[in-house]
Amino acid sequence: MSRIVVVSNRVPVPSQAARAGGLAVVLQEASDRIGLWFGWSGKTAAETGEDAAVETARGTDYATIGLSEEDHQNFYIGFANSALWPLLHFRLGLIEFRREHLAGYRAVNERFARALVKLLRPDDLIWVHDYHLIPLARALRDLGVANRIGFFLHVPFVPSNVFTALPQADSLLRDFCAFDVVGFQTDEHLDDFRQSVRQILGYAVDVAGVIAAQDRRVRTIVAPVGIDAAKYHRQAERAAGGKNYKRLVDSLAGRNLVIGVDRLDYSKGLPNRFEAFNRLLTRFPEHRLGVSYLQIAVPSREEVAEYASLRHSLSRMAGDINGRHGTFDWVPLRYMSQGLARSTLSGFYRAARIGLVTPFRDGMNLVAHEYLAAQDESDPGMLVLSRFAGAADYFSAALTVNPYDPDEIAEAVHAGLQMSLDERRDRHAKLLEELGRLSAASYCATFLQALTATSP
Ligand code: UDP
Repeated sequence: MSRIVVVSNRVPVPSQAARAGGLAVVLQEASDRIGLWFGWSGKTAAETGEDAAVETARGTDYATIGLSEEDHQNFYIGFANSALWPLLHFRLGLIEFRREHLAGYRAVNERFARALVKLLRPDDLIWVHDYHLIPLARALRDLGVANRIGFFLHVPFVPSNVFTALPQADSLLRDFCAFDVVGFQTDEHLDDFRQSVRQILGYAVDVAGVIAAQDRRVRTIVAPVGIDAAKYHRQAERAAGGKNYKRLVDSLAGRNLVIGVDRLDYSKGLPNRFEAFNRLLTRFPEHRLGVSYLQIAVPSREEVAEYASLRHSLSRMAGDINGRHGTFDWVPLRYMSQGLARSTLSGFYRAARIGLVTPFRDGMNLVAHEYLAAQDESDPGMLVLSRFAGAADYFSAALTVNPYDPDEIAEAVHAGLQMSLDERRDRHAKLLEELGRLSAASYCATFLQALTATSP
């Protein structure tokens, strides 16, 4: 069986990982076959060598390279997170495109390719993850790599008339076509990608979704990311016996808990969610004193100006809401801008009557999966889910909302809080069935089968 080589921007190097990132948790299912995991070390330095530093643990080599300050600025902060990220989340007004950022993005991908090529074996299956590394296959092909190379986009794709807003959109699309397989979270993202390839590049896409690119046939597939729900459920049961769970539940003093857990990112729709909570308390006064909303918003990408300003607005909004609605013994909105361990979170989800997941756009959103998996089937909470999260394609029994309308979110939270036990159980049973159809194992299997089936 071929060795799997995973390439992603960040690498879960065992000696450094304080907390396993989402990708590491998902790829655990394929970990027996991952012989090499390659990417950025997460460090910047004035002098960066061409060769990767390699560390081996449990049969996997973790190989990383550093980036110069300038590379980091152009590649990571610049093109990846100030152009591609807003573009792929439909936020055209937030795009800051600079030609030097794109040049730096390509240069870093070429550097990755030069360091990676030295570590490759002829029959390796190479699996590249996410929007930071779209040009990587092209760069590897230019160095003579003929291996099968697959790409998975964890974030959404956009319709072709949105994608063309990106300067040099056509060259980036051609880069996608140097992979053998390109995978997406949902049918919608897949269809938008195929449409872009047809309309912008003029390539034919056959009924099986294979693109006839200039020099190769590229298979396009859907492979939704999932979690190991049974394992997560057991973790939540254990967490419910722990001291953090007890502290949280005691502090609620019998009130219902609404929970939101996100990276602090403008794609997550947090200001609208805060406004929805404000409207819930204003329009449905029966919930005053009876509900507490805990929002965990973990800061990320603070070097990007938009993220810093979002953090300020959220702090201000949280203060306003608590000032307006709070009483001397009740803080309606508990806002934390620090992360918690995944295991602690599992208990918190279980304690919550409402899981609030309302991004403006999201590739999948694993918090939605975790919230469902953590519930107690005999008295489950309800998921309020944005129709624009990838997860909404799979969880039909959730309370689906348009995240642009704070009133609609407030109404869904109200409905969830009032929902009878019978209806909650019925919906949860259906949701569990839907959750069970997705898993980390099926994600890895679907993608790797498609990649294995292409001819090298
Ligand atoms: N997470 C965590 N601690 C936190 C906040 C989030 O471990 O304090 C985890 C969360 O459990 C989930 C992941 O981070 O597994 C977030 O993934 P998601 O797909 O929801 O969003 P992303 O951050 O990838 O956009």
